Amino acid sequence: MNSILTILRIGHGPSSSHTMGPGRAAAIFARKNPAANRFRITLCGSLAATGKGHLTDTVIIQSLEAPSLEKKVPPPHVEIIWQPDTALTAHPNGLILEAFDGKNSQASTDSWTVFSVGGGELAEWDAVQACFVRIPFDFELTKKSEEKGITEIYAERNMSQILNKLTKTGLSFWEYICEKEGNHITAQLGKLWNAMQESIQAGLVTEGVLPGELKLTRKAAQYYAKGKIITSALRTSVFLFAYALAVSEENASGGKVVTAPTCGSCGVLPSVLRAMKERFRLSDEQIISALGVAALFGLVAKTNGSISGAEVGCQGEIGVSCAMAAAAAAKLMGGTPHQIEYAAEIGLEHHLGLTCDPVAGLVQIPCIERNALAATKAVAAAQYAILSDGSHFIKYDDIISAMLQTGHDINVRYRETAQGGLAVIQR
Ligand code: SF4
Repeated sequence: MNSILTILRIGHGPSSSHTMGPGRAAAIFARKNPAANRFRITLCGSLAATGKGHLTDTVIIQSLEAPSLEKKVPPPHVEIIWQPDTALTAHPNGLILEAFDGKNSQASTDSWTVFSVGGGELAEWDAVQACFVRIPFDFELTKKSEEKGITEIYAERNMSQILNKLTKTGLSFWEYICEKEGNHITAQLGKLWNAMQESIQAGLVTEGVLPGELKLTRKAAQYYAKGKIITSALRTSVFLFAYALAVSEENASGGKVVTAPTCGSCGVLPSVLRAMKERFRLSDEQIISALGVAALFGLVAKTNGSISGAEVGCQGEIGVSCAMAAAAAAKLMGGTPHQIEYAAEIGLEHHLGLTCDPVAGLVQIPCIERNALAATKAVAAAQYAILSDGSHFIKYDDIISAMLQTGHDINVRYRETAQGGLAVIQR
């Protein structure tokens, strides 16, 4: 498996698969074709079905125009073609990028078919090997890895193998992560934790209406204000709601967030980390180690399952975010490795089958409330797990397999196409 940093990416919302991924693809393609004066971008399947609400076209145009704006030359012409009914076989989030020069306006000078597979990650489909080939993030492109592709950091491929390793060596999850990733991981996670706190803060102090036709009013500031005057046991839940709402509302308005594991589900983990930090007076170092453990559970889910709503529905986004946050909370409550794994398993198991059906294709309803509720479920899952002895029937690896199978069996209307469920309710 690759670095846990591939799960946590700082970027702008509202969607890692429909905004960050396509934006990154367009930026790479623009850099590769500096002489092009026209680009044609064909969005297929889910990218076309919900792309307008997710600002896919806006971010693609901005990314293709950025090099020209830097050089102060006229930007290229960009044509976006929407093909919601064209599903490329490898993945529902396919895009075809074509570049043209001034000499021949009909034949493209370069063409690239790439897939946005979740969490801002891009991959090409290798038809011969019948597998995806990941496009590395910039931080993975060290000189060495540029020559030979992406470096694998973890020899273990799933949670059972990791737990076996921990049992044999006596390492904790965090010690295992530090051993594999190297000393720099603490500083890198520290930056991500800072970015998460900034997005909470930005969401708590911003009021008004979210962009888009739904005219939804932001709620985080109200919940936070009420949380401060409540003295009962309800208080922690109110703050969990407020922090998750703050980050999710920032995401919905195109603000800066950290994928955890995606933009649509970015509110759950920061909310749980901040609420735990305040409730138990924890240090930033303790939170950073919990963030690392959460990312490891997200990485295992991405490697063996999926974190793409278009591929497996919302169970891959909110379900995985809840598992990550539950693992972090269980670690912060002093859980053993098996209790931490149990907490993550519970967090995902009880989101199994969750559909992706955003109203008007906007990452707002049901996404924002879903983050708030998943944050409370993550804490409950951690409490449940640490009250046990850590033994349990369904393992985290089992629930990931079940999620993948269930996701592939869910009708395509419920996988980020805005064609079924809540998405078709009219007002
Ligand atoms: S319903 Fe879930 S998977 Fe779909 S866009 Fe919203 S958060 Fe993402």
